[in-house]
Amino acid sequence: MKKLHIKTYGCQMNVYDSDRMQDLMTAVGYETTDTPEGADMVIINTCHIREKASEKLFSDLGRIRPHKDKMKEQGSQMIVAVAGCVAQAEGEEIFRRSNVVDIIVGPESYQTLPDLVGKVIRDKKKQINLEFTPNDKFDALPNSKAGTGASAFVTIQEGCDKFCTFCVVPYTRGSEYSREVSKIVDDAKKLVDQGVKEIYFLGQNVNAYHGLDEKKQSASLAKLIEEVAKIPQVERIRYTTSHPRDMSDDLLAAHRDIPKLMPFLHLPIQSGSNNVLKGMNRKHTRQDYFKIIERLREARPDMGLSSDFIVGFPGETDKDFEDTLDLVHKIGFTQCYSFKYSPRPGTPAAEAKIQVEEKVKAARLFELQKLLTQQQTIFNQKFEQQVMSVLFEKEAPNSGKAKARLSTQLWGKSPWLQSVIVDVENEEEVKKYLGKIAEVKILKARPSSLVGEILA
Ligand code: SF4
Repeated sequence: MKKLHIKTYGCQMNVYDSDRMQDLMTAVGYETTDTPEGADMVIINTCHIREKASEKLFSDLGRIRPHKDKMKEQGSQMIVAVAGCVAQAEGEEIFRRSNVVDIIVGPESYQTLPDLVGKVIRDKKKQINLEFTPNDKFDALPNSKAGTGASAFVTIQEGCDKFCTFCVVPYTRGSEYSREVSKIVDDAKKLVDQGVKEIYFLGQNVNAYHGLDEKKQSASLAKLIEEVAKIPQVERIRYTTSHPRDMSDDLLAAHRDIPKLMPFLHLPIQSGSNNVLKGMNRKHTRQDYFKIIERLREARPDMGLSSDFIVGFPGETDKDFEDTLDLVHKIGFTQCYSFKYSPRPGTPAAEAKIQVEEKVKAARLFELQKLLTQQQTIFNQKFEQQVMSVLFEKEAPNSGKAKARLSTQLWGKSPWLQSVIVDVENEEEVKKYLGKIAEVKILKARPSSLVGEILA
């Protein structure tokens, strides 16, 4: 077996893509290794959303160079591939800036990776493929082997037609594409045969899903959830990332009617100010968002909510930021992601004249995160002494201080996506609970996790 090292940046979609690239390369004789040292192939799966994404890439490539040179001295070849959104956005420029790179492949064409590797070895020429062929991609992917524990991601939709003014996704991932219902249901069946209990639908705009059903008619995400919920071994269903504009009536009803759909939703609003939302081209208002949340809570009163926030978007005033804090106070989130705005080259917002000062952004982010952490802590504390079902996915990492502990710990997820940690006595208990759902009594709530005990 040849050795493959993959470094992944960014969102769950990139994690999913890296797993699929691993599947593709496993099928042609590669096994993964944790280090680039001695690897026959290194893939850097990049994310353009991150600040200074291309600088990070070139630092990584600089660190890989000595390993590649050493392989060459030893008469072997290390093939270096750059994948993901930076590959798509920068293209040939990457070859010009680093001669370490052999392959540049975009997020919609990585199914061709084994072929590109073959050409590099055979023709001794660098290869690039940045085509948008999502249909071909999904048809060409082998059955998933990587990353299938108790919970598995399934990409159901890619790309975005929304063109938020701060975001590169519509340029790097192309326009919205949805996979057919039957193919997703097949994927889910194969995954549950491997022991998966939770299916996590992924998409850049997952609730804009409109794949074809068996009658070749467009099916909604709600319909897809209904179909996958019919598979008896599927115990939990989740989806991410959603857009408020696509929270359709039938999707809201699905949260009421389908118990397997977990009571947690990540629904980014980005800002609580209508002025900023307009500048972001979000095409919804804060009033629209309140209305959706009200209806969601009517459908599922125990719903946990998460969002993304960007502070310091160009032109954001103190009043705009107060509107964001006001919205957070009124909604009450269970966990959120929040960032300072930073310009992404090529996006309209990056060209805006009125950029917010760094120190103002930092102060706003501090204030917002303080509030969000308070809300998350209060939400978690509600579960102390309560019993909840937890899907145990892995042993808790045994690092640092935890190395001294005597017992083994398992890590699992609550219905509300909280991390739950329990002690187990021995290997037999690990085997008994790993990959299963068990009832857990919560003993202690921390800001970002819960500690509990499994009920007999
Ligand atoms: S909805 Fe907006 S933020 Fe989300 S992927 Fe599309 S353009 Fe980017």
